[in-house]
Amino acid sequence: MNDTDRQICTGPWDGPGSEPGAVAPPIYQTSLFAKPSFAEFVRQQAAEHENFVYSRGSNPTVAFLEERLALLERGETAKCFASGMGAIGAVLAGLLRSGEHVLFVNTIYGPTLELADHLERFGIEHTVLADPAGDVAEHIRANTALIYVESPGTMLMKVVDLPGLAALARERGIRTVMDNTWSTPLFQKPLAAGVDLVVHSLTKYIGGHSDVLGGAVIGSRNTVDELFHRGHQLFGAVMSALEASLVLRGLRTLPVRMEQHQHNALRVIDYLRARSEVLAVHHPHAEHDPDEELITTQFSGFSGLVSFELRQGTFERVSRFVDALTLFRIGPSWGGYESLVTSPVRPDDESGPVSRPGLIRLSVGLEGARSQLEDLDRGFAALAG
Ligand SMILES: *Cc1c(COP(=O)(O)O)cnc(C)c1O
Repeated sequence: MNDTDRQICTGPWDGPGSEPGAVAPPIYQTSLFAKPSFAEFVRQQAAEHENFVYSRGSNPTVAFLEERLALLERGETAKCFASGMGAIGAVLAGLLRSGEHVLFVNTIYGPTLELADHLERFGIEHTVLADPAGDVAEHIRANTALIYVESPGTMLMKVVDLPGLAALARERGIRTVMDNTWSTPLFQKPLAAGVDLVVHSLTKYIGGHSDVLGGAVIGSRNTVDELFHRGHQLFGAVMSALEASLVLRGLRTLPVRMEQHQHNALRVIDYLRARSEVLAVHHPHAEHDPDEELITTQFSGFSGLVSFELRQGTFERVSRFVDALTLFRIGPSWGGYESLVTSPVRPDDESGPVSRPGLIRLSVGLEGARSQLEDLDRGFAALAG
């Protein structure tokens, strides 16, 4: 993690209308901005992405967050949304047209694929190449307009060669989108690897306190502006000023939180790898040599979302383990201050959507690593009992 990024996260507010010396940004809790003349109103409304006219378009508090996110990802500009899915929906529905094809690479966040299924009815096709080491070129079709990638991927945390993928897509005139929620911009910068657009769920690490939902799209001004009207304003998944201020608060402690998540996660990984009940641990740090080029060129750190597989995995054994934990709480989402546990394994289909019958996912929070390991001891003790 570099000092430039720390500066961006903690730097002072100097946006429009702020009182000099205020260390927190003003919350512009207003739905509209009245203009001094009708001619001025007409002029500003014709370019709403550059002017504050109506808060379904732009709002100064939200714009301040957008500026910080663009700086962190080294993108030209950013647009925030009411949720990560708001951002992803805007990208897919805002950039694609009927007859075009999307190739998803790696294991992808479930609702993103459900949305892609829904878009089939509007003539937008998709296929999934779940193996991150698979031959991408072989899966590209004549009508492929977008390659959408997650790295590390959902649930199994496998890493994709991003520069390779971006170069291959660029040669063929195909746009690339990367969901960078797992790493945050502090630990991975996909735009620098040649990817065209980055999406985030701000609900996870960037918000960081499990009290706000949000999403963002970051990239070139041309592409984000293209999304602004169709994908943002017309679909209306808009972030409010109040939510933006909560995400900005999260941003200020993002560097220290990510260091602590990483520290704790590496302890948890070492612990899990030493347990005989564990078949595999999934996390870039567990599965790659830290000196491997794939890792050194793409990551400057690792977040605290880890999964592992129990031997002889069944819904019953996964439940016994999960139910014995007291510090790791059972729930969806991840990336907050608190440790969480979940699993894709279901009683009716023991393999779950990723075909791993003993898979358990941990969001390693900010508590002391010793208490986290003691809690995992409880889970393994319950398996033996
Ligand atoms: C949570 C999540 C999303 C969706 O974000 P929401 O804020 O819940 O809409 C997208 N991608 C990944 C990888 C996520 O974990």
